[in-house]
Amino acid sequence: PARSMALADQAKRVAAEFDFEQDAVNQAVNEFIREMDEGLQKEGTELSQIPTYVTAVPNGTEKGLYMAVDLGGTNFRVCSIQLHGNTTFSLTQSKVAIPRELMVAKTSKELFSFLAKQIELFLKAHHEEHYYGTLKKRETGAGGVSEEEIFNLGFTFSFPVNQIGINKGMLMRWTKGFDIQDAVGKDVCALLQAEIDELHLPVKVAALVNDTVGTLMARSYTSPGKTGTLLGAIFGTGTNGAYVEKLDKVTKLTQDKNAGDYDKSTGEMIVNTEWGSFDNSLRTLPNTPYDVELDQRSVNPGIQMFEKRVSGMFLGELLRLALVKLIKDPAVPLFADDNSASNDVHSTTQIHDNSPLWKQWGIDTSFLSVCAGDSSPGLRMLRQTLDKDYDISAVSAEDAEAVREIAGAIGRRAARLSAVAIGAVVISTGRLSKSAGTTTTEQKSGTDPSRGEVEIADEDMIDVGVDGSLVEFYPNFEDHIRTALRGIPEIGSQGEKRIRIGIAKDGSGVGAALIALVAGKVA
Ligand code: ADP
Repeated sequence: PARSMALADQAKRVAAEFDFEQDAVNQAVNEFIREMDEGLQKEGTELSQIPTYVTAVPNGTEKGLYMAVDLGGTNFRVCSIQLHGNTTFSLTQSKVAIPRELMVAKTSKELFSFLAKQIELFLKAHHEEHYYGTLKKRETGAGGVSEEEIFNLGFTFSFPVNQIGINKGMLMRWTKGFDIQDAVGKDVCALLQAEIDELHLPVKVAALVNDTVGTLMARSYTSPGKTGTLLGAIFGTGTNGAYVEKLDKVTKLTQDKNAGDYDKSTGEMIVNTEWGSFDNSLRTLPNTPYDVELDQRSVNPGIQMFEKRVSGMFLGELLRLALVKLIKDPAVPLFADDNSASNDVHSTTQIHDNSPLWKQWGIDTSFLSVCAGDSSPGLRMLRQTLDKDYDISAVSAEDAEAVREIAGAIGRRAARLSAVAIGAVVISTGRLSKSAGTTTTEQKSGTDPSRGEVEIADEDMIDVGVDGSLVEFYPNFEDHIRTALRGIPEIGSQGEKRIRIGIAKDGSGVGAALIALVAGKVA
């Protein structure tokens, strides 16, 4: 009992290091808003605030057949999307692994001709009539292929690009193991279009798409409200968000004489925040010894500091660093219980030498979800996972409880940090003051005025689309976000109720199709 009390205290202490109290949340929100404004005015700021040249979000009535491709990292996905115009869609998809040798090919042609070939295979397999129809017309010279017969395609390209038009962007550098030097500085849409044309495919690369913008568009098309989505946010391997900004605030674009053409009629533009690098200089972000160590041992110290506290790629590692420290604690070492069995069988906790616990990045963030989701007596799931996935056997109930406490603190902090980004966007865009009289007094179905519930008019809802395994699978991630949002003075519990958060499924495919649609209208 003495050991278990000391251990519980110790775990509480470490967990408390990950506290991110409301005052700190509110300060970070102010800093986030400041950086948003700064990023809209000039280059080289912490929040990049990249103009996307997309000037409208869909409302669910859009119709038509579009194509989308997604070059993200390991796979290349090709799909066609039929938008039914009633917030629903159907999607046909194929996926192929990118051969390693093409990721480091000598010329970009090798990679891009492979991509075009996949588009051709897809058309033959799923749009046979269309494919052979246009091919035949070309061969017989029976008139040209008309505009309507050409598929507009949205190209999701998840590498850093300097976008200068809706379907024009120069590759800045490769990441994720790609390295094809002659592509750097070139327009990736043009590279793909050239190979598509060589195969005579009836396809036009209409839009270059960032995945967060895709999430925003997909959510706006499918969301229940009619007002359009404000923000699309990803909480997966990484984290990022894109939102609808007033065009006249994007001064670095509107005052740039070299900027490409865009539709000014809506008075709005979607801006890609690149918020993974919010507060790289650590003015307001929490910074534990575990954060410091994770950063120092990462490939990009000092960069993506927000992402390193929020996203799936890093949370498991934060937990690992904290656990390793506790294991090495001389006073009450974790996992050193010599009588850990719950019944009378004597057994000692064993950490195998090859346990992933000893390796950098050894703990996957999905383990945090296991911890947060295990409410069984004695934390059976958690202990089983430690045994099965992490080679740590016969963990005592007290040790498991300590792990659960610390993992929970890391997950909660990530969600509260996510609330900083969401809250800052909601406040800075002024959506909260755009109220049509927030509440209605008449009772609507599903509400109970006696319990203080009031229906909020649809036009007063602020819609946020999210995607990524963390927000989808981490238990109560949204609840933690909401608790933090309520505590932000400018939002409060009234404002928090007006924020509707929904998962945007198939964001990259549908979103890219919708951007191709918008782009087609402009062109
Ligand atoms: P991506 O962002 O690469 O498109 P995902 O949205 O699936 O893909 O995110 C993958 C990340 O989510 C990985 O870092 C992984 O560790 C983490 N992850 C996977 N499953 C879970 C889970 N159940 N709970 C929390 N995080 C998870």
